[in-house]
Amino acid sequence: MSLVSYKTKRNFSETPEPVDHPKKAVVKKTLMFVIQRHQASHLHYDFRLEMEGVLKSWAVPKGPSLNPKDKRLAMMVEDHPYDYGSFAGEIPKGNYGAGIVEIWDKGTYEHMDIKDPEKANKQLLKDLKNGSLKIVLKGEKLKGEFALVKMKGDKPTNSWLLIKHQDEYATNESYNSEDYTPADSTIVKKGKKKV
Ligand code: MN
Repeated sequence: MSLVSYKTKRNFSETPEPVDHPKKAVVKKTLMFVIQRHQASHLHYDFRLEMEGVLKSWAVPKGPSLNPKDKRLAMMVEDHPYDYGSFAGEIPKGNYGAGIVEIWDKGTYEHMDIKDPEKANKQLLKDLKNGSLKIVLKGEKLKGEFALVKMKGDKPTNSWLLIKHQDEYATNESYNSEDYTPADSTIVKKGKKKV
């Protein structure tokens, strides 16, 4: 876990994104997840899971789906500080990730099999290393079991797949996350133009 990459990429005198406030990893009773809709050079969704006080992060170009048939590509990116979970705003032109960030969904999540937060945290880090996370999301939009699975190949890869498990929250209808973006969304209002 390191925020070096996060800090190196950003100029905090220009971007309103949160600077890390170094603090000891605190194991809380709940773990946070957040999905930010990010209109940068390309619209994508940033999927973030709290682990050991930082947010493990994946960029999901097509956005998440509640249909178990969909395997949504999720590119693992640098860890983000915990405070990023409540960030929404405009990253000025010329800066890393320039564009608009808004919160699309937020809530808590659990390890699928381990409910004790401390044990879950440790297992999640192991699962992350092994390239296979099985979690339960408790968000406004996303609920139930999901898997994040690292793609296998000869070369090292940052490519994972985000897949909904079949459960009471799954749908067999086609799912487009854009349909669940409120009409008063900042990005929709700005006409999806490049900033
Ligand atoms: Mn992003």
